[in-house]
Amino acid sequence: MIDETEAIVLRSMDFSDTSKIVTLYSKKFGKIKVMAKGAKRANNKFGASLQPMTYSSIVFYNKPSRDLHLLSKSEIVEPFISLHSDSEKMFIGLALIELLNMAMHDEEENPAMFELVVQAMKEMNKAEKNSINIFLAFQLRLCAMFGFRLNLSACRRCGRQSEETHSLHGYLQLTNGTYCCSFCNEETGSGGVKITLGAIRSMQWLEETPLQNLTQLAVSSSMRDEILSALQLYLRYHIEGIRTLNSLSLLYSQR
Ligand SMILES: [Zn+2]
Repeated sequence: MIDETEAIVLRSMDFSDTSKIVTLYSKKFGKIKVMAKGAKRANNKFGASLQPMTYSSIVFYNKPSRDLHLLSKSEIVEPFISLHSDSEKMFIGLALIELLNMAMHDEEENPAMFELVVQAMKEMNKAEKNSINIFLAFQLRLCAMFGFRLNLSACRRCGRQSEETHSLHGYLQLTNGTYCCSFCNEETGSGGVKITLGAIRSMQWLEETPLQNLTQLAVSSSMRDEILSALQLYLRYHIEGIRTLNSLSLLYSQR
């Protein structure tokens, strides 16, 4: 059966001297793998449309009950040029598709997720600064779409909001995405991941602010690191197969 769909390229792997196996996150079929015959030849018909982070429109022979399909045609819809030319944005964009590749199951349609990914990449491509905010917000939205949204508006036991407590930190509960203020945590000994209330408030802001307004404010590097590691622990707790994001380790270890 011949199918067509729009897709974001997640990964492109050499298969033979002339062909590639390409992993895509598509609008109609979720994550799919296709064989792109001749993709390694000079001047091949696919051009730059199979580069990771490219938004392309594809036609392929869909072989039901097989996990590798045959790519027939692929054209660029949006190349996201600045994600390829600006090194910081490139690493952050690569981290986003790396996470998506780990989090999504094969061939599970999720148009809302596809829309979120395209929006996040568009905004990141446009961003002149603070593009990491879009990736942090993307992860929070991804949690919500998977059904384990973080709920950080108030301590889950006493109901006090983070502004009302005198302590500087609280505890994020990995099991249900809520937090406990330090007083309640001491009372109940429920544990969790220690996190500053500044990071809690930043996460709320990242979740509530529309993607297109996210780059106006800088999140400090210490808070960014705190949020990244809390989200990494949270995602690992809820989704099997989440590993360290190589692209981000590369970006932040250079500094
Ligand atoms: Zn409390």
